[in-house]
Amino acid sequence: MTDTTHSAPTGTTGDRPAQADLLEEYSESLLGVFGSPSLVLTHGRGAVVTDADGKDYLDLLAGIAVNALGHAHPRWVEAVSRQLATLGHISNFFTSPQQIALAEKLLALAGAPDGSHVFFANSGTEANEAAFKLARRNGHERPGPDGTPRTTVLALESAFHGRTMGALALTAKEAYRTPFEPLPAGVRHIPATLEALEEHLDGTVAALVVEPVQGEAGVHALPEGFLRRARQLTREHGALLVVDEVQTGMGRTGRWFASAAELSGDDLPDAITLAKGLGGGFPVGAMLTVGAEVSGLLTAGQHGTTFGGNPPATAAGLATIAVIEEEGLLQHASTVGAVLADGLRGTAGVGEVRQHGLLIGADLAVPEGAGAPFGPAVVDAARAAGFIVNATGPATLRLAPPLILTEEQARRFVDALPQILASATAAVAPAGATAPKEA
Ligand SMILES: *Cc1c(COP(=O)(O)O)cnc(C)c1O
Repeated sequence: MTDTTHSAPTGTTGDRPAQADLLEEYSESLLGVFGSPSLVLTHGRGAVVTDADGKDYLDLLAGIAVNALGHAHPRWVEAVSRQLATLGHISNFFTSPQQIALAEKLLALAGAPDGSHVFFANSGTEANEAAFKLARRNGHERPGPDGTPRTTVLALESAFHGRTMGALALTAKEAYRTPFEPLPAGVRHIPATLEALEEHLDGTVAALVVEPVQGEAGVHALPEGFLRRARQLTREHGALLVVDEVQTGMGRTGRWFASAAELSGDDLPDAITLAKGLGGGFPVGAMLTVGAEVSGLLTAGQHGTTFGGNPPATAAGLATIAVIEEEGLLQHASTVGAVLADGLRGTAGVGEVRQHGLLIGADLAVPEGAGAPFGPAVVDAARAAGFIVNATGPATLRLAPPLILTEEQARRFVDALPQILASATAAVAPAGATAPKEA
């Protein structure tokens, strides 16, 4: 791990970089579920983060679509700090003005009708656990054609909904699921096609759970018309439509909710789950339940959380939303996202580019004879060049930068990309191999 190209770090003695020492300590004390982290980060400002050796990186991942305002945004820091210094945690025996204000704000942004409500959690997986329980309650309240509770929950192939047991049951990836079976029963994964919707959505289904754009799968949007048809069919058959906007929500795609492209007015989902960008970096998740009937499915005592929606978390959410509004970051996400996407599309070795605001997936042409996964090699080469990006698979890059990323910063990455791809190619391919010109 020792990188001798770094100059001597500050704050340590001896000639090994502080970072290498810390990463060694990490592996001795942290559970290995994340593998080895690539950097020890010590501070950040805007879209730039700095590692323990003092090297700066342009952060095009934002803590996986979390740091909407970048790092240490003054308005956000001020709001959270002030809240922490005033009232921190209180439990859900009590509420706070911030909690009520954030719930009201989220319902207003969603255009949710009277009778709609919010449940606050601490993460995406927890928001989806709440939605899973809502689905089960619907199954009990609206028995299927044979008079017994509906237990079927439909989710999509390639779906990612989280790592706790209920959310994991909704997640498709075998490698995540198999080691933990048996998972909660009743989930069926169907293809993300209109045909599969027609085939599987019937009176035995308690809920359909979908991501408007599958982020972890490599940024793949649902087919056009899918959500509209899903809304019709779920309504027809008494099933809930649950939209997981944990990654796509809160401005990430240039709208508050990606699903609003097809679902608005009287056709909102029955439940929307949020987390990632919601707190701008403070852990907070939420489930919105749309309308009185759906909201009434979970009653006092049927669900809960100790931390969920506490004052600092909800103050963070309010500050994040306020800055997105004041700085016009929805429009900005679309504009800067297009700069990144155009640049990616114009780069040799990049294939299909899927851009939804500042959530971008780009397929990579894998060099012939590559002896190692190319995506991770590109991530490594980008990091060496001072950029943090992510690979969702061996040939797919994902960008989810802070919504405050400037056009100039976006261009800086685009300009560096050919050299990054060349370095990655050299790292995985035998000498003499070159990246193919077309994907
Ligand atoms: C990240 C993610 C989750 C899980 O969120 P955590 O906060 O990691 O539990 C769930 N659904 C989607 C769509 C996500 O992207």
